[in-house]
Amino acid sequence: MHDALATVDQRCLIDLHLHLDGSISVPMARRLAELGGMELNDTDAELGDRLSVTADCRDLNEYLQKFDLTAQLLETRAQLSECMYLLQEDLARRGYLYAEIRFAPQRHGARGLSQRDAIEAVLEGLSRSSFEAGVILCCMRGGEEVHEANLETVRLASEYLGQGVVALDLAGAEALFPTENFRDVFELARKLNVPFTIHAGEADGPGSVRAALSFGATRIGHGLRAVEDDELMEYIVKNGITLETCPTSELQTSIIDDYAKFPLRRLLDDDVKITVNADNMGVSATDVRRELLLLTNIFQLSDADIQELLLNSAHAAFASEALKDDLVRRINAEFSAA
Ligand SMILES: [Zn+2]
Repeated sequence: MHDALATVDQRCLIDLHLHLDGSISVPMARRLAELGGMELNDTDAELGDRLSVTADCRDLNEYLQKFDLTAQLLETRAQLSECMYLLQEDLARRGYLYAEIRFAPQRHGARGLSQRDAIEAVLEGLSRSSFEAGVILCCMRGGEEVHEANLETVRLASEYLGQGVVALDLAGAEALFPTENFRDVFELARKLNVPFTIHAGEADGPGSVRAALSFGATRIGHGLRAVEDDELMEYIVKNGITLETCPTSELQTSIIDDYAKFPLRRLLDDDVKITVNADNMGVSATDVRRELLLLTNIFQLSDADIQELLLNSAHAAFASEALKDDLVRRINAEFSAA
């Protein structure tokens, strides 16, 4: 067994790209159903199948179908609060130091919750756990019908910034609704000094990453297709742009067709600030430790490589300088003790 496997057992994990609604485990689902007065008659195995894709999933549609149930489990304030709380407790148990958990406040209104209600509920959950986490609010890709809701998300992010909210994001169908269409949403974010990451270079190509960077994004969700454009890669390196990669999710949604095709070595060798994240702990049935183990086995990562990946995450966090310094110190301490 490779030496670095032991290192991944260390308790200094960070996830910068983690969706709340995609990170619901079977016990969490049961608790959320109970809170929402929803009958779940499935066995644990059946429920697991409804929450997670099969190991051989290579299909975005199969992937997205898993969010049908999780959406129904997050329709009330109590459910959103509890989900946030339980996820943080889960991360603490798994040996994480810090996580940024994202969700789209405009997507939880089926029973009448406003965006503000949804945000306050999640922040209430955040405050109940001692685990260190930040909340990223996702705007949604879509047509004219989402425009006002997105601007509202930006204004609310500005209002709750520093009270648990740390940044904004743009999520949804990248191929159908190009990044360029959302320029005014992120112009407002810049005007209000709200930092942001954007899902780009996932279903759409390098042009989408270019658009996101031109808005002022300092991090890109996934961003793998940037490697198709050398000039863009140069810009990413020169400006210290962080890529939030999520290998298993990228395999399951067919952005890559094999773990071996994941451009990890190239990104590390080119000094790209690459981070490794779970995306959806429930739907993808993974966590950062598992992702790092997979990459270690395929690419023979050294302890120094893993340390670098975790330090990239610490440096790119939408957190205070004091918290980032603390994360860096704790990661370095774990590795020097190894
Ligand atoms: Zn994502």
